[in-house]
Amino acid sequence: MASITRVLRPLARSATSTPLRLATRRSLLLTSVHRQARNAAAFSTTTRKQDADLASLTPTPISHLSETESLMAETVSKFAVEQIGPKVRDMDEAETMDPAVVEQLFEQGLMGIEIPEEYGGAGMNFTSAIVAIEELARVDPSVSVMVDVHNTLVNTAVLKYGDANAKKTWLPKLSTGTVGSFCLSEPVSGSDAFALQTKAEKTADGYKINGSKMWITNSMEAGFFIVFANLDPSKGYKGITAFIVERDTPGFSVAKKEKKLGIRASSTCVINFDDVVIPKSQILGEEGQGYKYAISLLNEGRIGIAAQMTGLALGAWENAAQYVWNDRRQFGQLIGSFQGMQHQLAQAYTEIAAARALVYNAARKKEAGQDFVQDAAMAKLYASQVAGRVAGSAVEWMGGMGFVREGIAEKMFRDSKIGAIYEGTSNIQLQTIAKLLQKQYTN
Ligand SMILES: Cc1cc2nc3c(=O)[nH]c(=O)nc-3n(C[C@H](O)[C@H](O)[C@H](O)COP(=O)(O)OP(=O)(O)OC[C@H]3O[C@@H](n4cnc5c(N)ncnc54)[C@H](O)[C@@H]3O)c2cc1C
Repeated sequence: MASITRVLRPLARSATSTPLRLATRRSLLLTSVHRQARNAAAFSTTTRKQDADLASLTPTPISHLSETESLMAETVSKFAVEQIGPKVRDMDEAETMDPAVVEQLFEQGLMGIEIPEEYGGAGMNFTSAIVAIEELARVDPSVSVMVDVHNTLVNTAVLKYGDANAKKTWLPKLSTGTVGSFCLSEPVSGSDAFALQTKAEKTADGYKINGSKMWITNSMEAGFFIVFANLDPSKGYKGITAFIVERDTPGFSVAKKEKKLGIRASSTCVINFDDVVIPKSQILGEEGQGYKYAISLLNEGRIGIAAQMTGLALGAWENAAQYVWNDRRQFGQLIGSFQGMQHQLAQAYTEIAAARALVYNAARKKEAGQDFVQDAAMAKLYASQVAGRVAGSAVEWMGGMGFVREGIAEKMFRDSKIGAIYEGTSNIQLQTIAKLLQKQYTN
């Protein structure tokens, strides 16, 4: 199978396709309309009136993908169904990612989607990464989160905050064979991430790191770790700095591997740093800026988790739809022909479409350079709620077959729970949304 992204590269390289151009133009105009509305301290009536001025533009459906993005979705879907699908159940039971799958992800170019071609990546846009994450989750949310964390948190961190030397050193590795992890959470700091206790101190030639990280995704497979540590605790969170640590550095160890409810093939481990000495060149960005980097990266990352949850919901729905509309008969008819079932399937599909619209909207706003923080939080909040509801209902629609560990129904249900926890719990998303709304609606 030829690499997915190699085939798509020429398309991505050609001028940005029409839907994206239109979306960008529309987004920029909306920014200006909203700015005017805010300046006039206007609320809904005035804003609606000004939005109407946009009628002269041809609006594109938010679900409209460019040619490259559509091809990305189709080819990743085919790859996921054919290559990953047969392994999903075994990887979940073994609580391990098959190394051959990791190798294939690199071969297919799915670990360097946004990395420019000069560094060995595919040079595609953020939405391409989002559709890839969604399509992978439709088949296996564990594989999806590996690709998600690697692309949206780790690669983006180096792309955004690495200097020329860091980009030249690390991006070719990250696109071709080295898995990355993002190490922020600690035993004492989850939602309150910046209460972290891991410390860094300066040495003659670099830095020394001591402490522990917890619940780190990809840590069994990763060779590259972005580590947040406090270089000057007297400054509180303003001492937090981002560093790059390689797996084979003395004093670095991946400790306990967690046994989990869901996404069991995705590794989640404790990591210890015991006098880990790194050279000066392995600071990422600037001293004391780590908290800003983490906030910004997680805002983007949340769109990825929202895409993972949307894909999961669709995968669970489709699996159940196959069963109720094709396989299972009761009372002499297919169980999907009962209106009580049909209405539930229709409701669930509508919710998936709504979640996807939020995800794509947040992705397009990010690409257009607009403020997308609230959109990302709404997408993650809602998509994880939908994933939980749909995957739970899908188990019921399939009755006993949904409950046993044969197909993927019960696995998707277990996997759905994580959406409300990592990269900011649902309460934290609600807090972000409410804070921004309050600011907007306070006179
Ligand atoms: C499978 C998995 C993978 C993960 N991967 C990574 C990773 O790769 N890198 C990484 O750095 N971290 C990772 N994490 C950590 C994850 O980001 C945290 O678990 C998450 O941020 C929540 O923190 P916590 O578990 O400490 O929960 P807590 O912060 O203790 O929250 C517990 C409950 O309290 C609520 N709560 C907390 N504060 C507030 C508040 N202010 N208002 C209202 N409610 C509140 C929460 O919403 C939640 O319901 C992972 C976790 C898991 C389970």
